[in-house]
Amino acid sequence: MSHSVYIAYGTNLGDREENIRLAIERIDERVGRVQQKSSIVESEPLVIPDNPDFTQPAFLNGVLSVSTDLTPVEVLDTLLNIEKELGRIRNEDTVHWGPRTIDLDIIAYDDSIINTDRLTVPHPEMQNRSFVVCPLAEIAPDWHHPVTSKSIRQLVDELKTA
Ligand code: ATP
Ligand code: MG
Ligand code: MG
Repeated sequence: MSHSVYIAYGTNLGDREENIRLAIERIDERVGRVQQKSSIVESEPLVIPDNPDFTQPAFLNGVLSVSTDLTPVEVLDTLLNIEKELGRIRNEDTVHWGPRTIDLDIIAYDDSIINTDRLTVPHPEMQNRSFVVCPLAEIAPDWHHPVTSKSIRQLVDELKTA
């Protein structure tokens, strides 16, 4: 059975366009066929609550829709492997929300609601991030949030008026 998964990417280190190209190529090979790609948006880094003066380069962000035969955890493990292959470094010294060659997050998986130690789906911060909501609206104008039932249009409007 094929499932529909929305994946958000973000990159602010190295050759950002090339990081996106390589990530999409590997997702298409190993997660499943990439059905749609949003436009790429440039966004300012999030302010890091514990370290508000931390500066880092701007991000390129976007969202993909992918049809997959993998389970949500299998998608997550595949994305974490691709992040590692593309040179993302994770250790105790790396700043949470700090610079990275590529971040690949699961925004939604069908209408599933998942709350486990490893996985929260839909992504818990998605509705607060215009760099996720706007690209998702572009490729999935009929999408609804399975927890709040809000339409993607409503999420876009709420961010604009926030
Ligand atoms: P944020 O999640 O706020 O965007 P981040 O993407 O920088 O921050 P990461 O360091 O990439 O955070 O991820 C840390 C862990 O988050 C992952 O190892 C994974 O287990 C967990 N996680 C929980 N829900 C998700 C999800 N929907 N997509 C990706 N990772 C998730
Ligand atoms: Mg993230
Ligand atoms: Mg992540």
